[in-house]
Amino acid sequence: MRKLGAAGLLLAMGAANAATQTVNCGRLLDVKAGVWRENVTLHIENGVVKAIEPAKGKADVDLGSMSCMPGFIDMHVHLTSQTQPQVEALRGQMTLDAIDRAYDSVAFAERTLKAGFTTVRDLGANEGLNIAMKRAINSGAIVGPRMFTSGKAIATTGGHGDPSNGRSRELRHLHGTPGPDEGVVNSPDEARQAVRARYQEGADVIKITATGGVLSQASSGMNSQFDDAELKALIAAARDYGFKVAAHAHGAEGMKRALKAGVDSIEHGTFMDDETIALFKKTGGWYVPTISAGRYVADKSREPGYYSPLVRPKAAAIGPQIQGTFARAYKAGVKIAFGTDAGVFPHGENAKEFAYMVEAGMPALEAIRSATLGAASLLGQSSRLGSLEPGFAADIVAVAGDPLKDITLLQKVGFVMKEGVVYKQ
Ligand SMILES: [Zn+2]
Repeated sequence: MRKLGAAGLLLAMGAANAATQTVNCGRLLDVKAGVWRENVTLHIENGVVKAIEPAKGKADVDLGSMSCMPGFIDMHVHLTSQTQPQVEALRGQMTLDAIDRAYDSVAFAERTLKAGFTTVRDLGANEGLNIAMKRAINSGAIVGPRMFTSGKAIATTGGHGDPSNGRSRELRHLHGTPGPDEGVVNSPDEARQAVRARYQEGADVIKITATGGVLSQASSGMNSQFDDAELKALIAAARDYGFKVAAHAHGAEGMKRALKAGVDSIEHGTFMDDETIALFKKTGGWYVPTISAGRYVADKSREPGYYSPLVRPKAAAIGPQIQGTFARAYKAGVKIAFGTDAGVFPHGENAKEFAYMVEAGMPALEAIRSATLGAASLLGQSSRLGSLEPGFAADIVAVAGDPLKDITLLQKVGFVMKEGVVYKQ
């Protein structure tokens, strides 16, 4: 067994995790039972938890005064972009290349991991940036959370995920009209083709923009943007390739179509009505709220010039609604997986979402479960992520104090291990 002192820990950061190691926790949250286990030692081998036993004696990593939890999972991030005044973003489209955005986003990935999020689902970027980032993290070239990503989100022409929105006619003609490979479809055939293109580019999940959205240069944040035939073809193709499907949606009609067609999750869900809630329960669909994004865009909509004239009223109308929608959905028994839409607000502030959930009426334990057990289930990773038990990835976060009594402690994570490697101590 390799002993890690303070210097050894630094060596272990970012290094291979072949060693057997032990971690002592003052207490460890058993997320399944919903109880703390006092004074335990986790035995870790090759990044996987082998055993958890009552602590006796010293360990390689001593968290004896801290509360340990499974690494958090954020089901909705955009790691390769970050909020800025929209006029700056538009300028960037004229003056910067994808590689510039890639270099910028290295820091976003590291910040997210060090905030305690050891796994994320990245739901959309242009030009394959999120897929390249996943490869760079997996190879150890850069530091970041374990990523599951959609590659490019799939939209219809002018829809929320059409990368040519906001361009002049001249520029649109110059660049050519985006098609299935760029994630824009206008028929069942093209929907199938776009799913297959995601498979080819190395995506793990399919993301569609089922309704308008807040930050796109388009007038409606709510209109339905796929017809039933397109949804049916898209989901059938996704199933063939083993993909789950996440649907961005604010308007109720778009949500209902998406749920009826069989999507696995609805993102944002702002204007869900009782009929939509009933559909969630009937289909077993998950709700990923992103309260953080709603609150952030509502705040920024009051700052003159931050958003474009088209976007500002949408941010003001949609942003403030999400927390109330979350409260209703939770009370009604809709399955909720934690997700923030980080990138719409600064990366690394993901854990504020826990406090917003608790503020809206969810008990702290349930909020933590939504970011561990719930998220792992929606990812299809329930046998290795979202809990600390033998056979699971050694993804450990720790805080001082009791986060079940004060949920804001999760915004001050003091220790992060991903797959047996310490990234923050
Ligand atoms: Zn998003």
